[in-house]
Order: sequence, then C-alpha cells, then structure tokens
Amino acid sequence: MISYQIAEHGRPLQKVLSETPKPRGTEVLVRVTRSGVCHSDLHIWDGYFDLGGGKRFYVKDRGCVPPFTMGHEPFGIVEAVGPRAKGVKVGQKRIVFPWIGCGQCAMCKDELDNYCTAMRTIGVVKPGAYSTHLLVPHPKYLVDAKGIDEAFAATLACSGVTAYSAVRKLARLTARDAVAVIGCGGVGLATIAVLRATGVKNVIACDVDESKLAAAREFGARLTLDTRTPDAVQKLQGLAKASLGGVIDLVGMPATAHLGLGALRKGGRYVMVGLFGGELQHPLPPFALRAIGIVGSYVGNLQELREVVALARKKRLKKMPLSTRPANEVNAILEDLKAAKVLGRVVLDFESAAT
Ligand SMILES: [Zn+2]
Ligand SMILES: [Zn+2]
Repeated sequence: MISYQIAEHGRPLQKVLSETPKPRGTEVLVRVTRSGVCHSDLHIWDGYFDLGGGKRFYVKDRGCVPPFTMGHEPFGIVEAVGPRAKGVKVGQKRIVFPWIGCGQCAMCKDELDNYCTAMRTIGVVKPGAYSTHLLVPHPKYLVDAKGIDEAFAATLACSGVTAYSAVRKLARLTARDAVAVIGCGGVGLATIAVLRATGVKNVIACDVDESKLAAAREFGARLTLDTRTPDAVQKLQGLAKASLGGVIDLVGMPATAHLGLGALRKGGRYVMVGLFGGELQHPLPPFALRAIGIVGSYVGNLQELREVVALARKKRLKKMPLSTRPANEVNAILEDLKAAKVLGRVVLDFESAAT
C-alpha cells in the first residue's frame, strides 16, 4: 500500500510504500478511492492547535506522533474482511466513519463513540485515509452512500456529520423561529444546508467577511449579519423578530458567544462547535431566568452520519463546491489550503494513475 505520511511536522508529507495489512477478527480492509483534505489537517500537520491566549494543544499528546498518516474523510471499496466481520461484502462502496471510540465502554456500546474518553479516531490517532488502504476495526463503521457523488460522500464523514449533530442539539423550534449560524466557512455552510434540508426556513448567517455571507445566502440563508456592526446583538434580535430559537457557533470565541447568548429568545439554545478559543464571562442569573441552554458539540455519532447520508441520498442537501485532485498532489493541496487558495473542499483521488 501507498501512504502519504508526516515524517516531521510542518514538512512535506512523504510517500511511503508498505505491506498492505490483512484484516483480523472484526476488521475490514478498505481500498480508499476518495479522501477529503480537511482544514483541521493543517493543524495536525503543524503538530498543534492554537487555543488562543498563547495556549497550544499538541497533537502528540493525543497519540499522533510521526511517522503518521492523516485523513479522516475516507471513502472506498471493501477489499478484504476479517473472519468475524459480519454484514459486509468485498466490493461494497462505503463511507468510513472516522470518529471511532475504544469499542468497550458504555458510550461506545451505545454507538456514542464521540463521547468515548479513549477515542481511536482515524487520521487523528490511528493511521488515516491519505493512503490507498485503511484498516477499519468493525463493519458497523461503514456507511452505504449509494447514489451520492463519492467525493461529496467523503466530506460527509467530517463537515457533514459535524453540522448535522450540531443541528440535532437545538431545542424544539416553532415555525416562526430563526436560527443563527455564526461563522460561514465550510462547516458553517454545511450547517446552513442541514438546517434548510431539515425544514428550518429562517436561517440568519453571521460572519465578518462579506464574501462568506454571500456564499451563505447562496446556501439558503434568508438573512445575513456582518457581526462587526457595533450593536450586533440588537441587530440579530431584530432580524430574528425577537424569535431566535437557536444559535450554532462555528467560531467559538468570546465575542461570538456573547452575540449568540445575548440574542437568543427565552428557552433558546446556543450550540458551541468552533474551537477558536478564549474565556466566557457572563452573568449567571439570565441563564435560569431566560431558560437558555448551552451545549457543546464535537463531530457526531454513527447514527447521525447515517442520517445525514440519508438526507444527501434524497438530494435534500446542498453540496459544497468540490474539486478532486490526484493523490500525489497532496503536498501542493495542503500548501494551497494554508494559503487560503481553496474554494470549498479538495478531495484526493486514489484511483488516478498519479497515486
Ligand atoms: Zn475534518
Ligand atoms: Zn469507548
């Protein structure tokens, strides 16, 4: 098998040839055909996430030590199955759910792998999908994506399931409720798409970048707010006609938290996804008096991936602009992503001759 590996953080990935593993027990060997290149891969490549305020989270503390293969948006074809892998056949095309837990704890047994304290995430902790082959611990992590463009299907494993899980955490909405989406990058647009696909008509997109707000309108946001405006909380309440039932914050900094929490109607819920960083200082009584909920959301679970895939299969989900490039261009792609030269998503093609 061929893998593109981090040999040293921040340096070009190395093409490495190694023996293709044989699946044992419940394992399944997937031949990767498409592999999404996610913005968070840039941080894994660098070796750390910047938490703001001079704090860093080092990926080595989570087991990601070079040589390491990134890639947590895999799509491929089942090539071999272990003797105890049931319900899966060689030749099936599948999305691989990457947010895999220990498999033993109560959370994992309930398919809530993303709440496991010992996650084995593909491409973050375990070898990932910048590779021609990928070993998956159990067939349950394979999701059928028949009828969906393969490159788009790959991205559902990350931005799609993250957006869907965040939307699922909103409190019950009334027909006149609006939902604000703060931060209109890739996951923000995916969130708008999921909101629209699940029947939310009043989506208000919030960002500091006019071009992102324009993209959000194209994705189905009814109204937009440039949050640099001085009285953003009042403006957001005004746009929502005092009925902001939910906020999904894909930025996650003090200013966006204050905006979201301040503008919610009574009983509304603020869902925090973004990891920009910082600290929140907020008076406590209003949370009780206004019956506001705050909930964090980290990626999503297996059932949520199945559900977002079902939405995509019904053609209800608007898809991100995607480009597919040969796998051996991975270093150029990472550089383009770093230089913000990528519109939408780039997906590696492992079927092209240039692998
Ligand atoms: Zn990702
Ligand atoms: Zn677990």
